[in-house]
Amino acid sequence: MFIGHFAVAFAAKRAVPDVSLGTLFLAAQLADLIWPTLVLLGFEQFAIRPGITAVTPLEFIRYPYSHSLLGMAAWGALLGIVYLVVLRKARAALLVFLVVLSHWLLDFLTHRPDLPLVIAGAERYGLGLWHSRIGTLLVEGLLFAVCIWIYARATVPLDRIGRWALLALIAVLVLIYLGNVFGPPPPSIGAVVWSAQAVWLLVAWAYWIDRHRTMIGP
Ligand SMILES: [Zn+2]
Repeated sequence: MFIGHFAVAFAAKRAVPDVSLGTLFLAAQLADLIWPTLVLLGFEQFAIRPGITAVTPLEFIRYPYSHSLLGMAAWGALLGIVYLVVLRKARAALLVFLVVLSHWLLDFLTHRPDLPLVIAGAERYGLGLWHSRIGTLLVEGLLFAVCIWIYARATVPLDRIGRWALLALIAVLVLIYLGNVFGPPPPSIGAVVWSAQAVWLLVAWAYWIDRHRTMIGP
């Protein structure tokens, strides 16, 4: 899943207006943001196998620290605690934690059975929506559209940046997504890892947007 994770972040903004959209992006994509670094450090492994699913050619061989349910709960707790300590907002911290965990649920829906529950052990889980390209596009596209709608109805731009930076971000997310789904398989492990690192720029972009939009109503 790709844009579905960002969708959760957009919708969550309505539930916790005092948390920046950037922090929600960070939370929803935390597993995928730390994953490339863990791969570079040799803690996690993947391979490129065109055809392994209809949507992604990536075979996730081992990624217990970034993508086990337990690992994500730990990263989520860490982010939540930092949030709590720095900003002293318990409800927001809890929601940040839940948004981190939502990543596992959405990945569980789409991945082949390759997601672990805990760090050790051989059991892997995943419902495999990625075996259907049309199914993936429908589910993820619908989720994205609904959540963007929720976000757009809950917030207004403060200036032109608030409007156009959001529209541009949505366009970029959709283009990256379509490129992933319909484009050729990536040329190398390095290309995957470094384009995954570039997702940090999307987090920065969301922080920027958040400063140029405000919630509607009381
Ligand atoms: Zn993931």
